[in-house]
Amino acid sequence: MKCSTGKYSYMSQELAETALVDQHIYKGFRVHEGPQNVYECGICGYWHLTSKAPTRNERLQQMHDSGEMKRKQEASRWEHGL
Ligand SMILES: [Zn+2]
Repeated sequence: MKCSTGKYSYMSQELAETALVDQHIYKGFRVHEGPQNVYECGICGYWHLTSKAPTRNERLQQMHDSGEMKRKQEASRWEHGL
Protein backbone atom coordinates (compact mmCIF):
# COMPACT_ATOMS: atom_id res chain seq x y z
CA MET A 1 0.00 0.00 0.00
CA LYS A 2 1.52 3.26 -1.09
CA CYS A 3 -0.03 6.58 -0.13
CA SER A 4 0.94 9.91 -1.66
CA THR A 5 1.48 11.27 1.86
CA GLY A 6 4.51 8.94 2.00
CA LYS A 7 3.29 7.57 5.32
CA TYR A 8 2.88 3.91 6.15
CA SER A 9 -0.76 2.80 5.80
CA TYR A 10 -2.51 0.64 8.38
CA MET A 11 -5.54 -1.46 7.45
CA SER A 12 -7.62 -0.43 10.48
CA GLN A 13 -7.81 2.03 13.34
CA GLU A 14 -7.00 -0.83 15.71
CA LEU A 15 -3.75 -1.67 13.89
CA ALA A 16 -2.73 1.98 13.66
CA GLU A 17 -3.31 2.46 17.41
CA THR A 18 -1.25 -0.63 18.18
CA ALA A 19 1.58 0.75 16.03
CA LEU A 20 1.28 4.12 17.77
CA VAL A 21 1.62 2.50 21.20
CA ASP A 22 4.48 0.25 19.99
CA GLN A 23 6.47 3.24 18.75
CA HIS A 24 6.15 4.87 22.15
CA ILE A 25 7.32 1.65 23.81
CA TYR A 26 10.29 0.92 21.55
CA LYS A 27 11.51 4.48 21.16
CA GLY A 28 10.97 5.40 24.80
CA PHE A 29 8.90 8.49 23.98
CA ARG A 30 7.46 10.65 26.71
CA VAL A 31 3.74 11.31 26.40
CA HIS A 32 4.09 14.48 24.28
CA GLU A 33 6.83 13.08 22.02
CA GLY A 34 6.49 11.17 18.75
CA PRO A 35 3.19 10.36 17.03
CA GLN A 36 0.16 11.45 19.03
CA ASN A 37 -2.83 9.98 17.26
CA VAL A 38 -4.13 8.03 14.27
CA TYR A 39 -6.39 9.29 11.47
CA GLU A 40 -8.29 7.91 8.51
CA CYS A 41 -6.66 9.18 5.34
CA GLY A 42 -8.82 10.94 2.77
CA ILE A 43 -6.41 9.95 -0.01
CA CYS A 44 -5.79 6.21 0.46
CA GLY A 45 -8.70 5.39 2.80
CA TYR A 46 -6.41 3.64 5.28
CA TRP A 47 -5.03 4.82 8.61
CA HIS A 48 -1.86 6.79 9.38
CA LEU A 49 -0.04 8.02 12.48
CA THR A 50 0.34 11.74 13.06
CA SER A 51 2.41 13.85 15.42
CA LYS A 52 0.33 16.96 14.70
CA ALA A 53 -3.08 15.88 15.99
CA PRO A 54 -5.10 18.45 18.01
CA THR A 55 -5.91 15.72 20.53
CA ARG A 56 -3.88 12.82 21.88
CA ASN A 57 -5.02 9.25 21.30
CA GLU A 58 -7.02 8.03 24.30
CA ARG A 59 -5.42 4.58 24.42
CA LEU A 60 -1.95 6.17 24.35
CA GLN A 61 -2.88 8.70 27.04
CA GLN A 62 -4.29 6.01 29.32
CA MET A 63 -1.17 3.87 29.00
CA HIS A 64 1.05 6.77 30.00
CA ASP A 65 -1.32 7.81 32.83
CA SER A 66 -1.58 4.33 34.32
CA GLY A 67 2.19 3.75 34.33
CA GLU A 68 1.80 0.81 31.97
CA MET A 69 3.82 2.61 29.30
CA LYS A 70 6.74 3.12 31.66
CA ARG A 71 6.74 -0.56 32.61
CA LYS A 72 6.66 -1.66 28.98
CA GLN A 73 9.41 0.79 28.04
CA GLU A 74 11.60 -0.57 30.83
CA ALA A 75 10.90 -4.15 29.75
CA SER A 76 11.74 -3.20 26.17
CA ARG A 77 15.08 -1.66 27.21
CA TRP A 78 16.03 -4.89 28.96
CA GLU A 79 15.09 -6.98 25.92
CA HIS A 80 17.24 -4.86 23.65
CA GLY A 81 20.12 -4.77 26.09
CA LEU A 82 20.28 -0.99 26.38
ZN1 LIG B 1 -3.10 7.87 3.02
